[in-house]
Amino acid sequence: MENENVVVYPSQFDPSIQVMVIFPGHENYDGLKPLFDELGFGFVAPEENLVIINGDILGSEDNLDIDILRFIEAHELAHTMLKHNTRNPDDEKDADLYAFILLGGKNYDTAQEYLVDSFEERHGEPFDISMIEKFR
Ligand SMILES: [Zn+2]
Repeated sequence: MENENVVVYPSQFDPSIQVMVIFPGHENYDGLKPLFDELGFGFVAPEENLVIINGDILGSEDNLDIDILRFIEAHELAHTMLKHNTRNPDDEKDADLYAFILLGGKNYDTAQEYLVDSFEERHGEPFDISMIEKFR
């Protein structure tokens, strides 16, 4: 029997990190739900080189919103690459800015647009391309 309600793959941004998208119905989903509610769409389990993403916000397992998934994956990978171990507004903004660079490196234009369009709602100020200069 196939393992249902979960998708696991090496991250395209850093193959040493595994990405796990977990859907309602998986045996561990209910246990993770409070963490998703607290931490957002996904979170990093750094000691396990694992990013766990809430599949519930991506549609269904058979019909994923791939651009949202790419955005969330890039954001969580940015946290690991920038070695964030706390969650604060500055780190969240930096993770989005670094995710912008990661997505650009893969030509994921639609995911980048989603990031730019949701930036002000997420961080209280509009995206400005000069913000990424500190990572260049
Ligand atoms: Zn974050």
